[in-house]
Amino acid sequence: MEDSTKTHAVLLSSPGLGHLIPVLELGKRLRTLNFKVTIFVVSSRTSAAESQVIESFMSLNLCEVILLPSPDISHIVDPEAAVITRLSVVMRETRPAFSSAISALSSPPTVLIVDLFGSDNLEVADEFKIPKFVYIASHAWFLALTLYLPVLHERVKGEYVDEKNALFIPGCKPLLPEDVIHPMLRRSDQQYLEYLNIGINIPVSDGILVNTWEELEPATLAALRDHKLWGDISKAPIFPVGPMVTPTSPIDSNKTEVFDWLEKQPIESVLYVSFGSGGLLSNEQMVELAYGLELSQQRFIWVVRPPVQKKSSDGSFFTVGNSSNANEGLASYLPEGFLDRTKNVGFMVLDWAPQVEILRHESVGGFLSHCGWNSTLESITNGVPLIAWPLYAEQRMNAALLAEEMKIAVRPKTLPWKGIVGREEIKMMVETLMVEEEGNAMRGRVKELKSSGETAWNDNVMVMLNMEGQAMKMRVKELKNSEEKGL
Ligand code: UDP
Repeated sequence: MEDSTKTHAVLLSSPGLGHLIPVLELGKRLRTLNFKVTIFVVSSRTSAAESQVIESFMSLNLCEVILLPSPDISHIVDPEAAVITRLSVVMRETRPAFSSAISALSSPPTVLIVDLFGSDNLEVADEFKIPKFVYIASHAWFLALTLYLPVLHERVKGEYVDEKNALFIPGCKPLLPEDVIHPMLRRSDQQYLEYLNIGINIPVSDGILVNTWEELEPATLAALRDHKLWGDISKAPIFPVGPMVTPTSPIDSNKTEVFDWLEKQPIESVLYVSFGSGGLLSNEQMVELAYGLELSQQRFIWVVRPPVQKKSSDGSFFTVGNSSNANEGLASYLPEGFLDRTKNVGFMVLDWAPQVEILRHESVGGFLSHCGWNSTLESITNGVPLIAWPLYAEQRMNAALLAEEMKIAVRPKTLPWKGIVGREEIKMMVETLMVEEEGNAMRGRVKELKSSGETAWNDNVMVMLNMEGQAMKMRVKELKNSEEKGL
């Protein structure tokens, strides 16, 4: 018989591997704390990778997973609209189906946890009179910016990128205009308004779970908890629950040869190059990257995807994973002779690599990354310093955090979203990270963060139990209310 006193957490994940993976991981962790967990996943219609991740998670039999088909939004949103606009609208339109699906559950939920893009679904918790939490699968500085955006929206009149000074965020590292997150680039774009809406929604929650830990962002977490600084903006308590990283690669890509190759390489000698689940480069940028790697004469593993025609990538959340055309002629978009000239030092992986296992391998000593937060944490928790090459979403903030605050990453002077990072600059960055003293110092610092992440988990258990305590308190309060009303 089912234990009716158990906290039953209902989690809601938005489409896209970068969102799905941390939600599944959170579900797993809550399960180990004896929560009953039901995970609703709004699935993107086209991603084979996502289906694979869901299937392998379901086979663990830890939590119930319920798929909510992505609603048709073609009559509301232009198919060319930005990813964030589409994601936000998909999640908003999902609300009625989500609410009905919760009603149909055999045991009623006692806590609701939605991810960033699910914030319009927080109100569903009110229908069921249960506490509601938001899970930010990113860092606390990003959370601070999101919460503060409604204030910035009033204070800053023109475009954020045209501001002369860094943007003020109470008690936190100021944000350079050039590092603002993707939806803040153009205020007239619907994605900006969608993001602003998220910033307005989050403070109505009963608490915010964030994928960070005390030692990673001590100052930001302290600031966010300072009621004098933040009390007027958000009173929702903050629960750092990180590092929430998947312990094994979410997709079994059956690519074992890469490990045979890694086994033969010296310790910490290999640079792993990957732009996440959706990052794509232009043709011109790929050529420069290839030459940069070659000129550096360092060992590398490069996860390659065919280039895109446009200059910058907005990510391809709705289409990525095992793209069928990935195999089509590496040689056709890489410099002539590149594969031949680098065959002794480089290993090319098409489309998708077992990233977690690669980063864990002792031969890997650096990660050239688009700085998605999952990739970033996977790097930190394996003690691997980075070359921060942000593409979209909040990745520029992540890069700034890694390079300037934590000092565990090299960052190109050329902004990858504005221009092409040239081969000489790439060569210099690779050398700095892989052979110079500066890179070594970064390696030392990231290893310290790795250790702090290992012990953070014990504290985070307490954090999550505290969440359960809050849920209990809420239930007791409601029971009292209904008794008082004589129900
Ligand atoms: N990933 C992987 N192999 C790849 C590319 C990505 O296993 O070839 C995984 C990676 O380990 C991470 C996730 O996909 O867990 C990507 O999430 P992230 O937040 O870094 O970036 P996003 O894909 O959301 O931009």
